[in-house]
This record gives sequence, structure tokens and C-alpha cells, in this order.
Amino acid sequence: MAAGGPSRSERKAAERVRRLREEQQRERLRQVSRILRKAAAERSAEEGRLLAESEDLVTELQGRSRRREGLKRRQEEVCDDPEELRRKVRELAGAVRNAKYLVVYTGAGISTAASIPDYRGPNGVWTLLQKGRSVSAADLSEAEPTLTHMSIARLHEQKLVQHVVSQNCDGLHLRSGLPRTAISELHGNMYIEVCTACTPNREYVRVFDVTERTALHRHQTGRACHKCGAQLRDTIVHFGERGTLGQPLNWEAATEAASKADTILCLGSSLKVLKKYPRLWCMTKPPSRRPKLYIVNLQWTPKDDWAALKLHGKCDDVMQLLMDELGLEIPPYSRWQDPIFSLATPLRAGEEGTHSRKSLCRSREEPPPGERAAPLSSAPVLGGWFGRGCTKRTKRKKVT
Ligand SMILES: [Zn+2]
Repeated sequence: MAAGGPSRSERKAAERVRRLREEQQRERLRQVSRILRKAAAERSAEEGRLLAESEDLVTELQGRSRRREGLKRRQEEVCDDPEELRRKVRELAGAVRNAKYLVVYTGAGISTAASIPDYRGPNGVWTLLQKGRSVSAADLSEAEPTLTHMSIARLHEQKLVQHVVSQNCDGLHLRSGLPRTAISELHGNMYIEVCTACTPNREYVRVFDVTERTALHRHQTGRACHKCGAQLRDTIVHFGERGTLGQPLNWEAATEAASKADTILCLGSSLKVLKKYPRLWCMTKPPSRRPKLYIVNLQWTPKDDWAALKLHGKCDDVMQLLMDELGLEIPPYSRWQDPIFSLATPLRAGEEGTHSRKSLCRSREEPPPGERAAPLSSAPVLGGWFGRGCTKRTKRKKVT
């Protein structure tokens, strides 16, 4: 070899060999991949020999296929069969009874029975509004706390749940009667607007959706503070925003609750957003000292591997079974007892035109207090509606 490295013709020859080898490898990959797609019984002896000679390729292709399958499965809604779900709920009931400090994390999945679309998801309320699509405001104002909201309020009353951290902006925890101090609405509450010019911030609870004119980085609601005259803002925290309001986000209480919790129950959340808040998961504690995690969700969540128990079921089904197991009645929701009406600040004269959303109304063909409806827990559990619309390994349904 001449000084200064290989000659030009030597380099070209080496390059040809390299290309040829690459092409052979690609061809082999195609062949092996084709053979692997066949059922084992249908492979010829020649094909079997090729697979045996290509161990590395086979391993790689099988790995790829598993990863693809895994990603697909994460999107699917899965239901445990009724017997399995009952067994898991019995275990969950034991955990609820034994917990010294139980914190509940909730997501859009607990409100779907109230026909509330996820506020921030791809088909969420504000996403649709951003795209210039309309959202039926009537649907939102007709929504009422679900069996799950009412069960959580009861568990708190029974001192079995100490705090609730929610991603939902629909205000339904508040309306279920859960005390304000026991809720952290991390992404805001669509019924609350605040004056940040007043110290401390002055809060205005309304009986209508205050977010009609607001959007990402644009929070003014079009109404003014009765005390100082400054513009009011909504409390919604959009994607890409950092929530800084004390209330109704109540981060301080959420963080304190997480640090005290020995048990966390996650209901109807994909946890994709919540997992980004390390303070909620006590990640600074060693794994053995972190709270025990129970997850109720139809789909995969990034915390499944850390969970003591994962229940694949609809929140209302699971909560109904759980309350039965605990021997607790689920109070029926009543507009007459909905705290939003006593918390609300009425609009002043001249402010009526500042919104066009339908207002919540206390009376809605409902008996006055004293003539209570039958409790929710008397509903049949394993009858027709149990697990309805959900089969094993069904494809995720598009929320419309
Ligand atoms: Zn003010």
C-alpha cells in the first residue's frame, strides 16, 4: 500500500463491496420479514433454514412488531370482565378502608357520563373553539355531577378521602358538595372568574360558563370587578400555560395532600398531563415510601407499571361497586343542594348582556327539598347497563 492510504481504485472497490453488502442485507430483511408474516406451518424447509440462519434479524423484527402492537394497545379501551372487576373492587375497597390519607386524582373520564367533553383534549371544548368550531353551550350547562362525583363527595364526608385533585374544568366536584378546601382544580373552573387587581384576589362564582370570550393567553371575560373596576379573568389553564392563581387551582393543598398521601386513587385520567407534575407523585421519596397507586381507566396510562392495582372499567361502574362494597349509599345529586347557587355572585344591572351562555337554573322539574329522589345506589348493577358499550379489547371510540 502506498504511503498516504489506499489508492482511488482501492477506495472505489471497497465502496462497491460495502453497497453490495447493504443491498444483500436489505434483501434478506425483506425475505425474513415476509417469512415471519406466514404461519409457522406454512413455511417451507428452505424458509425455515433462512430464519435459523438470521437469528439477529428475526429478533429485531419481532421486537419492532411487539413495539408496534404495544403502541396500538395503548390506544385501545379495555374492560375487565364483570367477575374480574368485582374481585379488583374488593381489593380496592380494602385499600380505601386501610388508607390513612387517601387522595383522589380525577380526569375527563369521570365526567363523560355527564356528557362533558374533555376540556383540553383533541376534541375538547377549547380546542374546538380555537378551531372556530362551535360547542353546544347548552350541553355544558345541562351537565350534572355523576355517580362518581357524588360518591367521592360521600367518601370525603365519611373521612375516607382527604383531598381531590382534578384536571377537569367543569366545576362538577364543587357542585357535588365537596368543600372548596378539599378540591384542587389544577386547570381551573369554568364557572369562576377572578379579579387579580384586588388583594387578595376577589373571586366571582357564576351560574354560567365564564369562558365564552376567552382562549389561550387571552383570559379577560368582558366583565369588571364590582369592587375595583378592573377586568375579570377566567381561571382556565390551557396547554402551554402555567397556572398561577391560588384559587381554584389550590396547588398548595394538592402538593401538601400528595406529600401526606399513603394511597392515591386515579379515576378516569390518562395521566399523560398529571404525570408531568412530579410534586403529585412524591418522586423525591424512595420508591418504597411513595403512596400506593390505584388506577381506574379504560386505556393504558404511563403509571400502570407503578400501580398496585389497575382497574379497567368505567368510573361509574367501579364507584357503584366500590360504594356497595363499603356499604355506603350514594347521595343523589340535587340542584336544590348544589352549592354553586349559594356561592354565586349575581350579575349587576347592565351586565346581563355580557354573556350568551345558558345559565344554570336551580329548579328543573325537580321536587323541592324534603321530597328526595331515590338514591343512585339503588340502580341495578350487573343488569343491562353494566359495562355497556365496552367490550374486551374494543377499539377506542372517537369522542364526538
Ligand atoms: Zn378588583
